[in-house]
Amino acid sequence: MENLMEKIISLAKRRGFVYPGSDIYGGLAGTYDYGPLGVALKNNVKESWRKKFVSSRSDMYEVDAAIIMNPKVWEVSGHVGGFSDPLVECTKCKRRFREDTLKEKGKCDECGSPTGEARQFNMMFATQIGAVEDSSAKVYLRPETAQGIFVNFKNIVDSFHPKLPFGMAQIGKAFRNEITPRDFIFRVREFEQMEIEYFVRAADWEKYFEYFKAEMLAWMEEIGLDMGKVHELNVADADLAHYSKRTTDFEFEYPFGQKELYGLAYRTDFDLKNHGLEYVDDLPAQAGEAKIVPHIIEPSLGVDRTILALLCSAYAEDEKDGEVRSYLKFAPHMAPVVCAVSPLLKNKPELVDKARIVYGMMKAEFGRVMWDDNGNIGKRYRRQDEIGTPWCIVVDFDTLEDDTVTVRDRDSGSQERIHINQLIQYVQEKI
Ligand code: ATP
Repeated sequence: MENLMEKIISLAKRRGFVYPGSDIYGGLAGTYDYGPLGVALKNNVKESWRKKFVSSRSDMYEVDAAIIMNPKVWEVSGHVGGFSDPLVECTKCKRRFREDTLKEKGKCDECGSPTGEARQFNMMFATQIGAVEDSSAKVYLRPETAQGIFVNFKNIVDSFHPKLPFGMAQIGKAFRNEITPRDFIFRVREFEQMEIEYFVRAADWEKYFEYFKAEMLAWMEEIGLDMGKVHELNVADADLAHYSKRTTDFEFEYPFGQKELYGLAYRTDFDLKNHGLEYVDDLPAQAGEAKIVPHIIEPSLGVDRTILALLCSAYAEDEKDGEVRSYLKFAPHMAPVVCAVSPLLKNKPELVDKARIVYGMMKAEFGRVMWDDNGNIGKRYRRQDEIGTPWCIVVDFDTLEDDTVTVRDRDSGSQERIHINQLIQYVQEKI
């Protein structure tokens, strides 16, 4: 579709999904703010992930670690020394770029002049802790949630005594001073991750790597990503992160190209070993207990890239009543608003009163329900289509006679009459 990215960005802003950060002050590069519908969509993503990977399992422990950690963590993890991207500067216009994302190697993306020598640019945001301004007070905003998991490994083992294999999970913000934030919420400087560190015996890593690959694919399908646009890429040895022995990236065909959506990494025993952490294994097959350092499989998912891939998967256009309409065909369980309730006419108190009762009933049951009495009914349908609401419920004069309402389907535009007593069940069965 032509201009798909512009259409998505404009819809996201107009309808309250995603706004440019600090907009009234001219914005701040690489930051975005989520509006009510964006928050609802993010919450549905996070809840769906949590349900699949944490709460439906008995081997997963969720933590919520502090964003600011002891700076030693980042020395030991290799981030102070190695978490950097190659930065080049144009010799003429002085613009800066990440060397490996240049359209043409050695040439400025903007003016075509030669770029200078690359230097390594560390992507961690540094700040000061406390009132003293000396080097001992330097701390970093975490560039990944994973380390917050490792520093709690011993706590979880001591509190819960989990048996291998088991996992720890975390949803939270991460910060990277990206050289060139771009492509809407694809590459931002502040974003959210959903990460799992799954601890296994060394010999089992391949089995669990394959297992999580399948689980990630199943989840992507479950939330309604266009699976025809998802591709697996085995990262070449030379491109592996400093901690990884094998990584598979899941890439998505965004309107601006096929790029990373999620990563699945085999982090070996790199992290636990560096942090000096061990595990006492009492595998029945061995005589007694043995101290080992578990190996790690890490499915790492970005929330913001999920939102972008969902918007790209859901955006559709067709013709209705001689007009082009745009709509978001979200899976009903992911849609920010599950149904909208309206009175046919807003100046008829008997319709409004009845519609308020239906709205109250649906709101109490589903929460994600919107009251909409603005403009004529056609306008309301278009508005709800644009935000991806699967059903519009309208209270009309027949409702006053027989307690049935019109339920209009987003994708087909077809309508059916349902008794008010059956409404909850009608929606429940479909989400
Ligand atoms: P890229 O190569 O695109 O910079 P990466 O390989 O550095 O990404 P990881 O370190 O594997 O990314 O991070 C795990 C996940 O976090 C990514 O798959 C992505 O979903 C998300 N992510 C990473 N960086 C960003 C960012 N700047 N903005 C939004 N999401 C991000």
